[in-house]
Amino acid sequence: MSGLVAPPSDDMSERRRRAVTAMLRAAYAWSARQARPEAMREVARMTGFVMEAHGPGSGPVTPLALVDALRRPLGELPILGSTDSSDDGLRDAVLLEPDGVGGDRLSAPALDLLCEHVVPLDAEADGQGWLPSWTRMTADRIRARAFAAMAGPKDQRLYETSRKFLIEHPAGRLQELQIGVSETGARMMPGGYRPIPESSLYRTRDDGAWWWPCPDCRWPMAVTRDQVQCRYRPHSTVFRAAERRGAKSPELTRVDEGPAVKTPVALSAVGSGCVGQGVWRFIVVPGASELRIAAQLERLGADVEMWPELDAYDLHVTIGGTEFRLDVKEYRSPHRLITDLRARPPRAQVAVLLPRTHGHQAEAVATALPRIEVLTEQRLLRKVRRIKKTIEERKDGDR
Ligand SMILES: [Zn+2]
Repeated sequence: MSGLVAPPSDDMSERRRRAVTAMLRAAYAWSARQARPEAMREVARMTGFVMEAHGPGSGPVTPLALVDALRRPLGELPILGSTDSSDDGLRDAVLLEPDGVGGDRLSAPALDLLCEHVVPLDAEADGQGWLPSWTRMTADRIRARAFAAMAGPKDQRLYETSRKFLIEHPAGRLQELQIGVSETGARMMPGGYRPIPESSLYRTRDDGAWWWPCPDCRWPMAVTRDQVQCRYRPHSTVFRAAERRGAKSPELTRVDEGPAVKTPVALSAVGSGCVGQGVWRFIVVPGASELRIAAQLERLGADVEMWPELDAYDLHVTIGGTEFRLDVKEYRSPHRLITDLRARPPRAQVAVLLPRTHGHQAEAVATALPRIEVLTEQRLLRKVRRIKKTIEERKDGDR
């Protein structure tokens, strides 16, 4: 006989998703509890959702047990530990990390997961407006709002200029940004540049505040005591900051062993600005890959049009009579990517392009969605190189 109260969903993957959302919301609330006294109510409410997802007899049952679980890898939750899914980073993610002054703060993986994993819980819990607005807005809405401002007169060239400018200049000295805007004629989005967030500032002994742009995306890297790293984990370079005697500004030393990058120079927070976190995460982060791939293709002799037909897709590539229409997809979670592609498949003749950091997702996507063409950055470059070689051989033959 079934119980009187049916659980909201019997579907295991739906229950896992609800548990992850509730954990993320609880982590956010806990990290914000100094400023927002009602945060503990949200933590308690979210404990209810995590318990409901687990069913009786497993998982954390009190708010404090939940907070404790937020400080450990998500995979230790019974509901996520039992899954054999290889959902990138989800099981290893720790949502709260020490803030260095005896409290907790939201970790970089938590911020990242917020973008892709938040699902509605129920009308009452969702009506509270708890999460920062950019995590509640979908990527599409953030992009649509920014791009509407850039492409006011439906002018493709102005649109491309403005979007490129935004991706290449997500942060910097306000005076230089101003000059760049007027020289390129780029349109800025509403909201424009704001002060550098506190969590990206390094304070020196003389009370100076400094920040560093990420070598990959140029947005301010997160500063945790003396460790400096982009919040977007695929941008994986890690630095250590130090104040050197006699130096005007603090300096970074590389501490990881990834591929060589130029070490960023510290910029003063005074007179600097950056775009908001939502715009960074949903426009600048994927845009940095799009521009990098486009530059590589152009070096190989291809013609590349960015975001043609006012963003019908991302890249239109032509070389020697061959055309590629590509939509660059950069998701942390292959499951989210597949779900989104299933809901909104690319237009006819547009292939999905996975950047080099995400090439490992190709097989999962191709298996789940055999009708969608999936290319990795490496495969695309191989194809274009081969075409270039054929063209050169033909030219040599004609001589
Ligand atoms: Zn970055």
